[in-house]
Amino acid sequence: MIKTPGTMNSVSRMRHKENKSIGFVPTMGCLHEGHLSLVRKAKVECDVVVLSIFVNPIQFGPREDFKRYPRYPSKDKMLARREGVDYIFMPAPPVMYPENFQTCVLPGKLSSGLSGAARPGHFKGVCTVVAKLFNIVEPDTAYFGQKDFQQAQVVKQMIKDLNMNVGVKILPIVREPDGLAMSSRNRYLNDSERKEVPVLYESLREAKRLIRDGCRNTGKIKKTIKKTINTAKYVNIEYIKLLNPDTLEPVDKNDKKFLVVIAARVGKVRLIDNVIVS
Ligand code: AMP
Repeated sequence: MIKTPGTMNSVSRMRHKENKSIGFVPTMGCLHEGHLSLVRKAKVECDVVVLSIFVNPIQFGPREDFKRYPRYPSKDKMLARREGVDYIFMPAPPVMYPENFQTCVLPGKLSSGLSGAARPGHFKGVCTVVAKLFNIVEPDTAYFGQKDFQQAQVVKQMIKDLNMNVGVKILPIVREPDGLAMSSRNRYLNDSERKEVPVLYESLREAKRLIRDGCRNTGKIKKTIKKTINTAKYVNIEYIKLLNPDTLEPVDKNDKKFLVVIAARVGKVRLIDNVIVS
């Protein structure tokens, strides 16, 4: 396990000198099959795999769950090793943000709606830490999940805008057998809440069916999603949106692909999910 940016960067440079490609999977830990699917892809595509585990304080709002975010470093290390991760980079917050830290990456339009609207400053924190991690790890390819669709789009835009030399791969959402998208935050749900939350994916599957059957009436699609989710007592819709997946603007009837995204509050837990229909 590597704790300092200096050591991580020296190791990466050494591996690059040996002509090895580096695949990078940034995470906040509490690893599950979703994270591990990214590691497995990186293992297939790259010579060396670096996994970072860092609960990034600056992407959490003041009333969010930074302090109680689940942290299981020993289990994470075991899982990462088992998947053949070559290096785990696990810096402490003061190492990433020393006292006089003062420079951030400010993303634009793509970050303003959806989770960006619900969590002001969130994507500024994400872009800043991802930029730092890219500079430290110097990966050839970074692996992200479609689960955080907006995050992946914002990061891709940052790479383009700031001429970063990193390729990005976005991989499908890994789900529990009942359809719930895997997330470190699922463990916050109590038994009654956990039983209800598969309605989120169920509603997305219904939306997908409607769109595939030719429905382009976004009002009707949203209403169907709402009706399904509202059968659950503890699930409160934050937003339902039908967007163009590239621009994150509302879909146009002629769009070839629809991104259907939902966010919901279940008790204190905020869950997100999405599907792309082409
Ligand atoms: P996190 O630790 O939640 O910051 O997530 C780290 C990376 O894993 C991000 O790129 C996420 O999009 C991805 N990820 C999280 N959950 C899933 C999932 N269920 N399926 C696929 N990727 C995921």
